[in-house]
Amino acid sequence: MKRALITGITGQDGPYLAKFLLEKGYKVFGTYRRVSTPNFWRLQDLGVLNKITLIPADMSDMSSLLEAVTIAEPDEVYNLAAQSFVGNSFDQPLLTSDVDASGSTRFLEIIRHLKKNIKFYQASTSELYGACEKVPQDEHTLMIPNSPYAAAKLYSFHMTRIYRHSYGMFACNGILFNHESPLRGLEFVTRKITNSVARIKLGLQHELRLGNLDTKRDWGYAPDYVKAMWLILQQDKPDDFVISTGEMHSVREFVQEAFNVVGLNWKDFVVSDERLKRPLDVYQLCGNNGKSRKVLKWKPAVTFKELVKIMVESDLGRWQRYMEGEVFPWDAPNHSHEVDIVSRNVVRDKEKEAGKSKGKGKFSLKGW
Ligand code: NDP
Ligand code: GDP
Repeated sequence: MKRALITGITGQDGPYLAKFLLEKGYKVFGTYRRVSTPNFWRLQDLGVLNKITLIPADMSDMSSLLEAVTIAEPDEVYNLAAQSFVGNSFDQPLLTSDVDASGSTRFLEIIRHLKKNIKFYQASTSELYGACEKVPQDEHTLMIPNSPYAAAKLYSFHMTRIYRHSYGMFACNGILFNHESPLRGLEFVTRKITNSVARIKLGLQHELRLGNLDTKRDWGYAPDYVKAMWLILQQDKPDDFVISTGEMHSVREFVQEAFNVVGLNWKDFVVSDERLKRPLDVYQLCGNNGKSRKVLKWKPAVTFKELVKIMVESDLGRWQRYMEGEVFPWDAPNHSHEVDIVSRNVVRDKEKEAGKSKGKGKFSLKGW
């Protein structure tokens, strides 16, 4: 029986990957962080919590990662753990680099020391392309990160490649474009939209505040994408692959499509909020998946329209069941829609309003 270790198993992708690997007959181990409130709802939602073995570990704690590998004795490691939210990486750049850059290197070092034939999958991202204006992007496109998150991930992307070439390790990058699902974190724009659309339809919320509606993303469906992660590690030779749909849509189109699902006009509810705009954004991401189609024989199964429908209907169903008094594990009721979070963006904005702005992209370190 093959053994897999998934870091970040409590996130969006971890449970889908765990389910996929369990169905393939793997023994699955997953790392989780100790938090004051348990965070296993996604694993419960997919019915895999009791079929996997959990190991406490943090990407910033080398000894816990070493312990995880020692306990799991994996054939394959899927390194999904990350501070994965671009917006937050502007607020916590050092934590982001410790977890997303140094964390992956810690893992590569452990494998190099312990057992070089453990296969290693690194969760790389389309955010690496950042300011590069060429579309579509492929495995050879110039990478110009536009956020602390992307800069940290670029370091891990290269370290994975460097360890492959230097030490002959089976270390691969999946350069995954945005992928979404009903298990997506609420702070990401797609799930923020579908959760709000569901609440608006049911009269629980009256507006949806968003930042930049013009940015474009190549949005796919997470369960399709975890299959690609596995395929990448099943090849004869380690390599890097773009995983994407090859289609690009704007945030505005996503909003419009989501409101269409419930028969409402988005213009009646969407409010533009400057504070939700990033100091630097990535304007267009669209992946050329030619290599993965050819070599991995992989292709996405769910279309953009289907994805939006799946997500809206899922959030609508959850809120309806909640209103009927059903109790089940789920993130949204714990998420305050009114809470006042003061991030660097807000400080920057207040200064701009007061005429104190030092210019675009510069913001105050007040509060440090
Ligand atoms: P999520 O944010 O949903 O999950 C991230 C996981 O990492 C969670 O389990 C989280 O734990 C864990 N984690 C965060 N910090 C640490 C830490 N210090 N130590 C240990 N674990 C930690 O991300 P996704 O599942 O969506 O994505 C999986 C990976 O793929 C990430 O690396 C992401 O950057 C990358 N990626 C994602 C894309 C997407 O569109 N989803 C696109 C391209 C790449 P906890 O639950 O406790 O917070
Ligand atoms: P990302 O591609 O990893 O940054 O995924 P996100 O879902 O966080 O953001 C996708 C795009 O939506 C970015 O260009 C954001 O600037 C834009 N966007 C517009 N409004 C919002 C918002 O309210 N929240 C988030 N997360 N993104 C927003």
